[in-house]
Amino acid sequence: MDPHDDLTPATRAVALGRPEREPGEAVAPPVTFTSTYVAGGSVTYARVGNPTWTALEEVLGGLEGGDALVFASGLAAIDAVLTLVPPGGRVIAPGHAYNGTTGLLREASAEGRLEVVTLDISDTDAVVSALDGMAGGRDLLYIESPTNPMMEVADIPVLVREARARGILTAVDNTFATPLLQTPLADGVDLVVHSATKYLSGHSDVLMGAVVTAPTEQGRALRERILTRRSLHGAIPGPMEAWIVLRGIRTLAVRLERASENARVLVERLEAHDAVSRVRYPGVGAMVSIEVGDGPDAADRVCAATRLWTHSTSLGGVESQLERRRAQPLEVETVPESLIRLSVGIEDVEDLWRDLSRALDQA
Ligand SMILES: *Cc1c(COP(=O)(O)O)cnc(C)c1O
Repeated sequence: MDPHDDLTPATRAVALGRPEREPGEAVAPPVTFTSTYVAGGSVTYARVGNPTWTALEEVLGGLEGGDALVFASGLAAIDAVLTLVPPGGRVIAPGHAYNGTTGLLREASAEGRLEVVTLDISDTDAVVSALDGMAGGRDLLYIESPTNPMMEVADIPVLVREARARGILTAVDNTFATPLLQTPLADGVDLVVHSATKYLSGHSDVLMGAVVTAPTEQGRALRERILTRRSLHGAIPGPMEAWIVLRGIRTLAVRLERASENARVLVERLEAHDAVSRVRYPGVGAMVSIEVGDGPDAADRVCAATRLWTHSTSLGGVESQLERRRAQPLEVETVPESLIRLSVGIEDVEDLWRDLSRALDQA
């Protein structure tokens, strides 16, 4: 039995991925900088494996309840999952997935490699009827929940049950919820993907991604295929990046708890603010989208007026960030021009509100 089996996720984030507890051994895992290994071991070359990756994979796998493989970025991880679908296969995906994901899917569809069906992932009936036209053993149901930036929430247990009944592979982008709020593998999902750039690292200082597979026979077969892709396509993180994410993930629970508490307070006040016409908040986590005014102008003024909140793309860091998503050229047109995505950080909530409400008053 794994001695860590009975630990809660917050403790796992701290306790897993450590060197053997021997007298004189390091407590914190070292960064291993090497391109190759002495012959005769299990790993021979550093495109295939690195001990610092392994430490992080142990922590993330332990949190998600599966086997993790780290990648150079979230999109590299997502790309590896999409290449599991053979040419001509079909992928169902949220219309409002992360814009890089929709970009990848659009490219695969334009080149004729995949048939892509996008829909509202929170519309369970629509997703289930779309599954009816799909082929087991070939096609993929790709879920993101909550979606970025529209905050739609998928009914993961029901969608996965329906997909499995048809032999269709399922993947969930768990970047927004993190394994502390949602563990899709426990619902029967085959693959979880992460942009570790966001909450897992948590300090806006590194790009990394991961794929986590289920601890089942099918999951292990998928892990082998994903590992082969990582080794051959070479979308690997540097050891230093893996160490930075490993350091960040240790504090995931306290960061997320504080940021989520801040978000709850801000959501209540935003809902009562005259300048805000709509608040989108999935009820948990620290991501919130608001709509301000009609077109882009008032929202742009808010983003330009904050002094504590950083006007920047990306999310999940200790510092609060905001962005009008349609300012991104890849963002899909059904995202309102007036939508501002808020990534609530861990600062004092009264400082955050003073700055944000002042910017909203000005708009
Ligand atoms: C940022 C993000 C990605 C892409 O990750 P990168 O690390 O930037 O490549 C994928 N999914 C979601 C939900 C994201 O927010």
